[in-house]
Amino acid sequence: MNKEFYEYCDVCHRGGQTRSTFPLSDSRAKRPFSLIHCDLWGRYHIPSLSGCHYFLSIVDVYSSAIWVFLLKDKIETFEKLVNFHAMVKTQFGLAIQRVCSDHGVKFMDRKVQKFLIKNNIITRPPVLIHLNKMVGRTKKS
Ligand SMILES: [Zn+2]
Repeated sequence: MNKEFYEYCDVCHRGGQTRSTFPLSDSRAKRPFSLIHCDLWGRYHIPSLSGCHYFLSIVDVYSSAIWVFLLKDKIETFEKLVNFHAMVKTQFGLAIQRVCSDHGVKFMDRKVQKFLIKNNIITRPPVLIHLNKMVGRTKKS
């Protein structure tokens, strides 16, 4: 695997720690949307005013820009990701290269996974995220 695959996601990093003591790695995402961090939150018992029980957060690791989408059902994740992918292409002229999540990519159903594969978007399983942390620490010592 090439070096770019191991770009560091500090959202995963911060999600897995109880305090922020680690300096940022120098292997952060190299350009906007080369790595996005997605998480699905919920189901919340008390819905939003619009009747949503879930929200999907998408972070562009390069810029730290965050998009938050309210969902009535987690099945809407597919539509939100497809729309987000199209928005990145149209508004920024860029392609999303990799997706990661604190919770692996378990929240992504088969339909989402097929979409990612079709668009050559790589998902990063948690084991690689942990490997990245180790690589980051090794580099510093
Ligand atoms: Zn991440």
